Amino acid sequence: MTPAEWTDANEGPDVALLPTDGLPPRETVWLFGKTENGPLSAHFSLHEFHCRCNDRGCHQTLIHPRLVDVLQTLRESLGRPLPLTSGFRCKTYNRVVGGRIRSQHTRGMAADIACASLAQVEELAAAAQKLPAVGGLGKYPARLFVHIDVRPRNHNTTPEMWIG
Ligand SMILES: [Zn+2]
Repeated sequence: MTPAEWTDANEGPDVALLPTDGLPPRETVWLFGKTENGPLSAHFSLHEFHCRCNDRGCHQTLIHPRLVDVLQTLRESLGRPLPLTSGFRCKTYNRVVGGRIRSQHTRGMAADIACASLAQVEELAAAAQKLPAVGGLGKYPARLFVHIDVRPRNHNTTPEMWIG
């Protein structure tokens, strides 16, 4: 994997470029090129997080390491694959899919996870709610997915939760 150039096409927190010899420090959000791939954790690879659009101007991917940690923890505790239907979104794609303007997806801090049943939606949401790093949690029972993000959580409170 090679470092990518940062442009004004996306905005986000301070970014760390990916060094050629491994993953950058975990305090900052990671920036990858959209054509890059490689393992981010035991069960998640970079390609799963890339923006799903076909826009030529979309060539970068932000991923906060805290998001990867949360997903990996959930993957291990539930013991089943967690297919991502949306990870990072460029602003254009976020608009196309009707995401909120300041969506955590555009900051590399959110993932939508497909579930096979309503029971899996409930099970995943219940497990995610217990993780302190989870700051936003959306249940979408009709469309069978769960949104999880790692926005900062206010002290001693539960994550922001909603049903879509
Ligand atoms: Zn895009």
